[in-house]
Amino acid sequence: MISEALYASISSIIPTLFHKMNLLSQIQIILIETSHSGNIGSAARAMKTMGLNQLRLVAPKQAIDEQAIALSAGAKDVLEQAQYFQTFDDAIADCQLVIGTSARLRHLQSSLIEPRRCGELALERANLGKVAIIFGRERVGLTNEELLKCHYHLNFPTNPDYGSLNLAMAVQLACYEIRMAWLAWQNTAESTIPNMETDFPSAEALEHFFTHTERLYRDVGFIRNESVMRKLRRLYQRAHLETNELNLLRGMLTAVEKSRHL
Ligand code: SAH
Repeated sequence: MISEALYASISSIIPTLFHKMNLLSQIQIILIETSHSGNIGSAARAMKTMGLNQLRLVAPKQAIDEQAIALSAGAKDVLEQAQYFQTFDDAIADCQLVIGTSARLRHLQSSLIEPRRCGELALERANLGKVAIIFGRERVGLTNEELLKCHYHLNFPTNPDYGSLNLAMAVQLACYEIRMAWLAWQNTAESTIPNMETDFPSAEALEHFFTHTERLYRDVGFIRNESVMRKLRRLYQRAHLETNELNLLRGMLTAVEKSRHL
């Protein structure tokens, strides 16, 4: 029999612990078209050592096999729970913050995020919704089109002459930073993670907005080539639109559309 006082104190702690555990489960590690199953296994191990367990695989070239399981060591459960997606867009659709990792710095200057800040931001935003951290193909990384769909870009400041990390090691570093932020948070009061009222749109909602923008502005003759849309995407991604702001922009597009068809 546990005393009432003990029961009361345990039951007040449990939701807090549960919440803290869940926060890491909001962070999705997404691997794009991985060539070697062994890298998937090593990535799962890297994740689990840091307390992360949500792995998403986009069209892996090799299925999870013995090699993957061997390299995952004790993290077979992460592999077993992995979710599969056909496309990049499908994998990020329900995420409100999308961070792409890249060994290259070109074109990304305005949206770069430091590894330490990335860990903190991922954790803060995990409090509000799902967060995606994306890792590219072993040989060619992420495409420019994929990078354009990320709010932030994370580059580990490696040796400029030899800067490309092994995929699972890049996963390890990103997860380590998240863990450091999580441990720091655990040691401080719960209130330090902003419990913002703000709601951010999912990647899918943002994608609908871009499609809507492109359709209308092609229709009115403003958008004539791909580069305008690329610039607009960059601009809107950088603005970190909140849901009510996105609704405002959608409303403006719809109003213009309606007035044209009067
Ligand atoms: N030649 C590829 C390297 C791919 S390495 C390229 O130019 O992008 C496989 C993946 O590991 C990358 O897509 C990225 O997700 C991650 N990665 C490797 N090195 C990295 C670094 N220095 N910073 C951030 N991510 C890195």
